[in-house]
Amino acid sequence: ALDMTNKEKNFPNFFQKYKLMRKIMVIRNNSDVPSDIKNQEEKSPHERFRDSKSLSVTDFSSLAWCELQQHYFFIAGGRKETLAMKIGSEIHNKLELQEHDIISIPTHTKEDIWGIKLYNLIFGIDSLFINLKTRELPIFGFVSGLFVFGIIDQIEMKPVFDDISRDELIISDTKTRTKQYIPKYVPPSVKFQLMLYKKLFDELVQGTFDEMKIFQTLDLNPDLEFSKELANIVNISYKEKEMKEFKPNLRNLMKVVINSFGKVWKSCNILEVNYKFQKDGSDLGSKYFDYDENQLDNYLEKTVKYWKGDRKPEGVPIEDAWKCQNCEFADNCEWRLNKIKEREQNKRALLEIT
Ligand code: SF4
Repeated sequence: ALDMTNKEKNFPNFFQKYKLMRKIMVIRNNSDVPSDIKNQEEKSPHERFRDSKSLSVTDFSSLAWCELQQHYFFIAGGRKETLAMKIGSEIHNKLELQEHDIISIPTHTKEDIWGIKLYNLIFGIDSLFINLKTRELPIFGFVSGLFVFGIIDQIEMKPVFDDISRDELIISDTKTRTKQYIPKYVPPSVKFQLMLYKKLFDELVQGTFDEMKIFQTLDLNPDLEFSKELANIVNISYKEKEMKEFKPNLRNLMKVVINSFGKVWKSCNILEVNYKFQKDGSDLGSKYFDYDENQLDNYLEKTVKYWKGDRKPEGVPIEDAWKCQNCEFADNCEWRLNKIKEREQNKRALLEIT
């Protein structure tokens, strides 16, 4: 697999290029919309925090804990990386390296960046057939017109010998824990995360996506040839095999993606959360749950309204007020302060009656 995220220390040149490119994009977009015309508060969260482009699967699932808390984190520029998060990502990296090597290559255009994502997706589907398992599989699609991208921790295939229709395709997410036992319940945010992965994966298997809409949404030129380093890798993989007319660009790589998914004959049918002990990475066991399409659709409908700015973010309901105890925004949270005020008013009204 090609990596473009985790090698800052070892490959400083690559990251300088990536950061520079991001900077240029931001300046260009800012000049499109002068800041005095549209202030931050008037923008939808999709425009304000994601530049109207790609949302991640966790952008949806993280709203399940407390929308308002997540909104405050977005305003603050994201969550600070905690030690637990750092250890968690080290465990993820180790697990990935057990399955395949990672090569870092420089990127020069945004088409290169998406080219790597598509390449890794094709690589991942091939691994699923060869090794019956794939890790860190990129996935994408649309939710109510919003482009969503994510990376599935693991998909595993368990063939049933004499009956292909009973083969199991297990989609799984790895979570690390400080406690040395698995939790009683899978939290809603993790359930929605996995259910959304499954939905996106199944839609790619069904081949119903519109690749031109993806290129337009992400402002990508599908015919722009990849930079030398990525073009070489793509050519070795495809052109020098059977595809003589193959040009190393997004349009052709997307055709290979569609072909790869054409080989997958079924949707993911088992959803798993696998827990690892944070201290030593040892396996603590797994929890399984059912895909609930109605529940997911209702949740997505609600969260899409937040992202499109059709409604304000909500704090937790009164029965979940315990979540506020450990919330770093509690002292200034308007939702919480209003709820306290309401409760005091109700108490006073009750006293006046009695
Ligand atoms: Fe949400 Fe409570 Fe935090 Fe407010 S204080 S953001 S309602 S968790």
